[in-house]
Amino acid sequence: MEFSQFRKFDKELFHVITDRYGGVSKAPFDNLNVALHVGDSVEDVLQNRIMISHKYDFSIKNLIFMDQVHGNDVVVIEHAMDNRIENCDALITNERKIPLMVMVADCIPIMIYDPVKNAIAVVHAGRNGTFLRIVEKTIFKMQEVYGCGVKDIMIGMGPSIQSCCYEVGKDLADICDKNFGEGFILIEEEKYFLNLQALNLSQMLDMGILKENIEISSICTACDTNYFSYRREEETGRFAGFIMIR
Ligand SMILES: [Zn+2]
Repeated sequence: MEFSQFRKFDKELFHVITDRYGGVSKAPFDNLNVALHVGDSVEDVLQNRIMISHKYDFSIKNLIFMDQVHGNDVVVIEHAMDNRIENCDALITNERKIPLMVMVADCIPIMIYDPVKNAIAVVHAGRNGTFLRIVEKTIFKMQEVYGCGVKDIMIGMGPSIQSCCYEVGKDLADICDKNFGEGFILIEEEKYFLNLQALNLSQMLDMGILKENIEISSICTACDTNYFSYRREEETGRFAGFIMIR
């Protein structure tokens, strides 16, 4: 899928979020798994990544991906460097031709673009990263390093687990209420459901990001079998968000 607001900048910006089709991985990673850390065959994963790079015409050699650890470290990419960045969950750059990748199966793949400063970011926003305010930290970093203005920043939140399926325990619901205020937990028949998208949205709005510049996919990965879902399948692959300044 793609974000319609980013499509307007198609000449300057490449972005896409893959689904689970078009690759060579076998069950339970069938079939466009991009992640090396889930137990899939390394050859198949590398083949999948190469196929994606050919399809979308970017250099696989410049691809940057993260050793995602559910933390909130943001790394600035200044040139084509080691492809795998350790211990981080967000990347930012203003360099051309360097595709950034975020891998997910229920967590939110967040993409950020400032068309004025020509800077981009990818964020891996799961529950932990969201509680650690990773998207806020990433935007601060873009302001600090590239002078991005909050009114210029555009954000897309890709397919991810939504409150229809994201049941959490009462302990966690209480922590969420206590730290972020009410409104992010839905209670139904004494069950608690977390709205991870709303939690990230509120962090963005609190920083002054314009609501009309934020696009949220309505696809729930746990409902929609076109996407990998850790909650639904447990042993499964990861799909990915890619973004690159052309
Ligand atoms: Zn759902």
